[in-house]
Amino acid sequence: MKIGIAGSPRQILASVVEHAITERTDEIDIAQHDGADIEMLREKAYLEDRHLTPKAFCDYFDCYTTIPCQPEVQALVDAFGLTGLRWKLADGFIEDNRSFSDLKVIFLRPYAELHSWFHELGHIVFGRIEGSLLKRLVSVAISSYRTVVNPPGFPEGKYLVLSGNRNGLPFGGLCGLDHHGEDGVDNELWASLFAMKNYGVELESAVQSVIQQIVDSLCI
Ligand SMILES: [Zn+2]
Repeated sequence: MKIGIAGSPRQILASVVEHAITERTDEIDIAQHDGADIEMLREKAYLEDRHLTPKAFCDYFDCYTTIPCQPEVQALVDAFGLTGLRWKLADGFIEDNRSFSDLKVIFLRPYAELHSWFHELGHIVFGRIEGSLLKRLVSVAISSYRTVVNPPGFPEGKYLVLSGNRNGLPFGGLCGLDHHGEDGVDNELWASLFAMKNYGVELESAVQSVIQQIVDSLCI
C-alpha cells in the first residue's frame, strides 16, 4: 500500500524528514509513497533520486525557533572560524539536544545548561580533529577514568565515569563506550570532555592537556 500524506507541501516535507531522522537515513522508499508527493518533493529540490537533499532538512528545520548563541560559546565558534551555524530550540518533533554537523544546525532544549551548548559545538567540530590527537585523547581518557558496567538507571553497557571539580564541587557524568549510535564513541567522548573543560571543570591533567592541544589545533 502506498503512503499518501494528505496535506500541504510543508506537511509532506515534515512527514518524510521526520521519518528519515527517526530511521537515521536520508533515503526514502519511493515505492511506498504517493506519486504526486514524490513529484512535489522533486520539484522543490527536496529529493534527488531516492535521497532527501540538505535543502529538505534545512527547510524543514525552518519551523523551529532560531535562538541566539550564548556569548561564551560564540567566542569559541569565532576562534574556530566557524560560520553559518544555526542554533535552534529543540521543541517539537526534535526534542533533545542534537547536532547535524553536515548541515551546521544545532538543537538545544529550552533552558539547556551551558555545558550542553559546548557539547553540541564539540560534535560540530569533531570531523576536523586530527586522527592522532583524537586517538591520544581516547587512550588518555580511558586510562584516566574508571569504567562501570550496567550502572542502574542506564541502558545496559560499559561506561566511562567522567569526573572533575567545578568551583570546588564534583561534576561529571557517564559516557557510553559500547553504544555505536550516530555519534560514535570517540565523538561522544570528545564532546563530553570538551564541554566539561569549557564549562570550567578541572579534569585529569593529562586529559586536560590533550583537549587543549586539540582546541589549539582547531583555532584559526
Ligand atoms: Zn553528544
